[in-house]
Amino acid sequence: MAEGRTQPLRGIRGMGDRLPAETPWWQQLEAAVRRVVRTYGYRELRLPVMESTELFKRSIGEVTDIVEKEMYTFEDRNGDSLTLRPEGTAGAVRAGIQHGLVNQGAQRLWYMGPMFRHERPQKGRYRQFHQVGVEAFGIATPDLDAEIILMSARMLRAVGLEGLRLELNTLGSAESRAAYREELVAYLRQHEADLDEDSRRRLDSNPLRILDTKNPDTRAILEGAPRMADSLDEESRNDFDELCRRLDAAGVEYTVNPQLVRGLDYYTKTVFEWITDDLGAQGTVCAGGRYDGLVEQLGGPATPAAGFAAGLERLVALMAERDPELPERAGPHAYLVVAGDRAAEQADGLAEALRDRLPDLRLIRHCGGGSFKSQMKRADRSGAAVALILGDDEAEAGEVTWRPLQGGGEQERLELDAAADRLKGVIDAAESLG
Ligand code: ATP
Ligand code: MG
Repeated sequence: MAEGRTQPLRGIRGMGDRLPAETPWWQQLEAAVRRVVRTYGYRELRLPVMESTELFKRSIGEVTDIVEKEMYTFEDRNGDSLTLRPEGTAGAVRAGIQHGLVNQGAQRLWYMGPMFRHERPQKGRYRQFHQVGVEAFGIATPDLDAEIILMSARMLRAVGLEGLRLELNTLGSAESRAAYREELVAYLRQHEADLDEDSRRRLDSNPLRILDTKNPDTRAILEGAPRMADSLDEESRNDFDELCRRLDAAGVEYTVNPQLVRGLDYYTKTVFEWITDDLGAQGTVCAGGRYDGLVEQLGGPATPAAGFAAGLERLVALMAERDPELPERAGPHAYLVVAGDRAAEQADGLAEALRDRLPDLRLIRHCGGGSFKSQMKRADRSGAAVALILGDDEAEAGEVTWRPLQGGGEQERLELDAAADRLKGVIDAAESLG
């Protein structure tokens, strides 16, 4: 009797696989990110994907969506409570304190990697997702806020994403925030019965987050609420004005959104988001701001800080929409077809010599034998721009046959030098397209 086939296992919901048809956008994005952060003098941090649960509770805030319902928390074999990082700032601050970076003057740092949140998976929202983030420690002035916003704008431009909306707000100092919080609570208490359930609960625990609600009835009540701008301390107001002036001078467009608060507790003063209308409800691709109190709150010396994080899945989705052909252009430049014994002996040497001369060359050397015809079929299917055919004749003469597979042109025999020169042209042409 035939054995039943084993049921294949599936990956975890919300933790997607990125297959080769998609990774070219990722590679383009990651390369652009690395180039941009380098031009601002930011240095890379690589941190563990797990931290003690306590770290996130103390930094992100106990009464936030992330800590209340989104963290992957578990006990390890020693009974310690660990959490897969839901974001990168907490770990960056922890490491900055632990290794004394925050005592060494201005620090400009960046990181990129996976984050984990147990959310309802949907377009633009996953359980494992990826962020690039920057964190700058030790600079209190709004020239830094302007710098990180300019850098985020440059990253978007670098991958062809123009036309996103920049929204800005200031949350004020810790003190002015506390004063505003009281006013807001006093106002909302009068409308308590009409608030949605989440907002009612937050009235005690985290009232500023109510400003961020998507519930339409609560939004209507918020229309009449006191405004954060009216209880701002003078320093925050001046710093915000200066930030706006700097962005104006740099030609960066923005709108001030007084309702913009962030989902994490640690923000002070500047907050900002880059938003697109092309991704439905998951429209925020990058978010950040100042968090002057966090280093001290986590046991380090009082250290001003600011940063942002951008969601790579959302950026890739936009890139794919705007440049759907990139994966095609990322295919091989050339496919080496090998026919005959003498040719087979020389094929590896030829392929290696071409790779030596042309470090950017993407060359597939046919493996697995087969007829000339079947090899040509593979060459066609590979998406390569040209087939390099090495038969015994060619091998004898130290030549190769050049057969264009795309864009027309004649087949011809070339000496190796000439073939390498031509390949250089193919590489440059593919480069200029992407
Ligand atoms: P949202 O309001 O969409 O839940 P957030 O305020 O929770 O976002 P942040 O913690 O500020 O997000 O993270 C910064 C960026 O990381 C977001 O703007 C978004 O681009 C991305 N991001 C956050 N959560 C997810 C997720 N679950 N899946 C994909 N990307 C995410
Ligand atoms: Mg969220």
